[in-house]
Amino acid sequence: MKAEIIAVGTELLLGQIVNTNAQYLSRELAALGIDVYYQTVVGDNLNRLSQAIRTALERADLLILTGGLGPTQDDLTKDAVAAVLGRSLHIDRMAMDHVDRFFEGRGIPMTENNRRQALVVDGGTPLPNETGLAVGNAIAHEGKFYILLPGPPSELKPMFERQAKPWLLQHVLTQEEPLYSKMLKFAGIGESGLETRLMDLVENQTDPTLAPYAKESEVTVRISTKARTESEAMAKLDKLEAEIAARLPDHLYANEDVPIEKTIVDMMTEMGLTVSAAESCTGGLLMQSITSIPGSATVFLGGIVCYSNAMKEKLLNVPHDLLEGENAPGAVSAETAQVLAEQVRMIVDTDFGLSITGVAGPGYSERKPVGLVYIGISRRGGETEVYELNLKGNRETIRLRSAKTVLYHLWK
Ligand code: ATP
Ligand code: MG
Repeated sequence: MKAEIIAVGTELLLGQIVNTNAQYLSRELAALGIDVYYQTVVGDNLNRLSQAIRTALERADLLILTGGLGPTQDDLTKDAVAAVLGRSLHIDRMAMDHVDRFFEGRGIPMTENNRRQALVVDGGTPLPNETGLAVGNAIAHEGKFYILLPGPPSELKPMFERQAKPWLLQHVLTQEEPLYSKMLKFAGIGESGLETRLMDLVENQTDPTLAPYAKESEVTVRISTKARTESEAMAKLDKLEAEIAARLPDHLYANEDVPIEKTIVDMMTEMGLTVSAAESCTGGLLMQSITSIPGSATVFLGGIVCYSNAMKEKLLNVPHDLLEGENAPGAVSAETAQVLAEQVRMIVDTDFGLSITGVAGPGYSERKPVGLVYIGISRRGGETEVYELNLKGNRETIRLRSAKTVLYHLWK
């Protein structure tokens, strides 16, 4: 099954909005085992939109269109599809009731153009819009399939998940065995390092297939297989996962798509452990990532952002001689990282104390190179671990990688 996504909207062409719908749909279709060969973007123009649909029909069996289902003159998607298919449009009763009820509920009169939101292509299946007004459409016509979804992501996602996906499974993917996937998440290793360790598996893959990709300092490997039943698929996926885990035991932290902070919060919750942090160059990024996990309150007790040397001294008792002076190690040093981690652990009274101090750039500081970062992990009743990192990238990447690296060592 070959698919093409057509995103409709002049604002996409003008660069005013990002085509996140295409990204979302591509990912969802890939998970269903549908190959997306083209993504098209076209403006709110009936001729060009009709042309884009005709072109897509030459190279795809399934067309997914997003945007242009609304009430205004520039919302032309249904008109274009109807024209290309040589079908008419009619008002769908249920969709019209839905629009009427909305306006009644608000106590405002419905304008005539809002009737357009209830239009469906003759012979098509209306896809109810649970979070908006414009009804979607699913159409089968001469061996090709069309799905029309609204532009706003808050309407598109629920409509895809709850209406379009079941329709696809029932009408389009009946012949094919469903695709099952598992996401394996790795930390403390780069994409190329991981690929090298899994090289033979990547090269010889047929079933299950294996696809690594990197994002925001995390590497993910998606393993997928087609099978008649879920248990049959899981048996194959579990076997491959075990093989990968045996090769990378120090890096595989989860077999679902979660960030490492989630794994850590879950682990520490289970073990009844607590953590605190002192951050210099990351300015709270580490604490932000931990506290973004629901349920982190019992694990993360607090922390200190000590950006300046004065605050390192005053709030975290870093000796002045360590920070300043002719031969002082300075703020960006293993010594300072150690004191920060130990002090914050004692001050907040937690099982673990984490610290980050470094040069995020773009300018150097203390005559130290951009990307030089020290991180510390202090443990109650144990030795403090300090790591020197030499990170590459811009300020944002360096800060993100610093935070992720502390989390990685904490997990390990
Ligand atoms: P509406 O009923 O809101 O008019 P619509 O189905 O007609 O919905 P559009 O008018 O094309 O959709 O777009 C409405 C809004 O949806 C856009 O302003 C934009 O915020 C968002 N949107 C549209 N297309 C995309 C896209 N491809 N990716 C992300 N957001 C989009
Ligand atoms: Mg619109």
